[in-house]
Amino acid sequence: MLHGTEHETGGARQHDGLQVHLDQLDIPRPVIQYDVDDYTLAGMESATKLTEQIFKVAGIEMQEQVTGSGNKTYKGKKSYKGKKYTFWGSGHLIGTHIMGDDPHNSVVDSYQQTHDHENLFMAGCGSHPTSGTANPTLTMAALTFRTLDKILEKLKN
Ligand SMILES: Cc1cc2nc3c(=O)[nH]c(=O)nc-3n(C[C@H](O)[C@H](O)[C@H](O)COP(=O)(O)OP(=O)(O)OC[C@H]3O[C@@H](n4cnc5c(N)ncnc54)[C@H](O)[C@@H]3O)c2cc1C
Repeated sequence: MLHGTEHETGGARQHDGLQVHLDQLDIPRPVIQYDVDDYTLAGMESATKLTEQIFKVAGIEMQEQVTGSGNKTYKGKKSYKGKKYTFWGSGHLIGTHIMGDDPHNSVVDSYQQTHDHENLFMAGCGSHPTSGTANPTLTMAALTFRTLDKILEKLKN
């Protein structure tokens, strides 16, 4: 899943009949378009139901209007089973060198060692296959300690 959407935009210019989007330094930038699928919406529905239960038990009134701390352009709205959901993007870029057991559909193993090159480790948030929630950095740091143990073990042998 790609996190993030268009933000911090600069202008745009035409090139060979195509519109090229620019960042604030006037450097061409990619434009990422994505949609929220039913699996994700079912997750939002489930999380909302759980939140309602918790608030009910705690005696807290559920507010329909929430205020996001992020940039307004991150904001998305989607309807699912007759209910409207609002979501925000984030700056957590993950999954670029995805972790997994199968070299056919992943880049690194659980030690962040690449399947293709024995002496190449890629310690970073790119290893995260999915994002359960925001803020991947602490998990990345924990995984990096695991990676370092593996590298030290390799160096000893
Ligand atoms: C606006 C914003 C807010 C965020 N807020 C939070 C937060 O509150 N909490 C949280 O947990 N996470 C947050 N994150 C996410 C967090 O910053 C990143 O997930 C984390 O920094 C990723 O670490 P990384 O080492 O995987 O990648 P990076 O930190 O991006 O490091 C990659 C490094 O590789 C270098 N590099 C790239 N290509 C090459 C190349 N070809 N040769 C040599 N070097 C190269 C880059 O210059 C960079 O230094 C935020 C991210 C953004 C953008």
